[in-house]
Amino acid sequence: MVIRKFIIAGNWKMNMTPTEAEKLVKELKETCNRKDVDVVFCVPAIDLLPVRLLVDGTNIFVGAENMYSEDKGAYTGEISAPMLVDSGISFVILGHSERREYFHETNQDINKKVLKAFEYNITPIMCVGESLAQREEGITLHWIREQVKEGLEGVTKEQVASMVIAYEPIWAIGTGKTATTEQAQEICKAIRDYVAELYDQDTADTLRIQYGGSVNGKNAAELFAQPDIDGGLVGGASLKPEFAEIVNFDA
Ligand code: PEP
Repeated sequence: MVIRKFIIAGNWKMNMTPTEAEKLVKELKETCNRKDVDVVFCVPAIDLLPVRLLVDGTNIFVGAENMYSEDKGAYTGEISAPMLVDSGISFVILGHSERREYFHETNQDINKKVLKAFEYNITPIMCVGESLAQREEGITLHWIREQVKEGLEGVTKEQVASMVIAYEPIWAIGTGKTATTEQAQEICKAIRDYVAELYDQDTADTLRIQYGGSVNGKNAAELFAQPDIDGGLVGGASLKPEFAEIVNFDA
């Protein structure tokens, strides 16, 4: 049986000036000190380097919230995988629902970014998830399988085994409405089963799958106790000292 290490990532979104980031990280690096969990702070581009310097020597990783699929060139406003690597950044969130919705990113765009991240040894946290309308229409699984299949086009089984998929039902993001543990487990298991179908069981068993959507200090332990949930992608609660309660959940 494969033992997967928990991975708990904060997604700061467009929050935290470098000054605010310094204050929060100085506090969290003292309190998020669990060795059996990979902790990742995914932060805005301007905070990447200062935050990475602050967590040097700890077991906290730093991740970007997005990146572009080209190495360099005339793409005003974008940041590239080589820039991230040069700054010591080891994770990148790709395909967050806010990027899909507001910046019209398609599964194909996300796939190009996933491939680029692997080219530079950056671990992608690829987000998938359904809207409330899709859930009510009964097409959740169909939608998520499509996101997984198209997002992983051309990705090898070794790469899939090393990456992270975050299941984030859009209706649970920033709404205070958490999916029930049964709903979260059901879809995380379905993602794992589908990866086994696309690749093989070993690959699926090694892949880490996070749940995201209004995770907080109170509901984390129950969610993370589910057999197919290997940690969380946390928005709002990652901006507060409370994030340490999530990282230090009762296993
Ligand atoms: C997110 O932004 O990925 C997220 C899950 O947000 P929240 O925890 O605030 O719902």
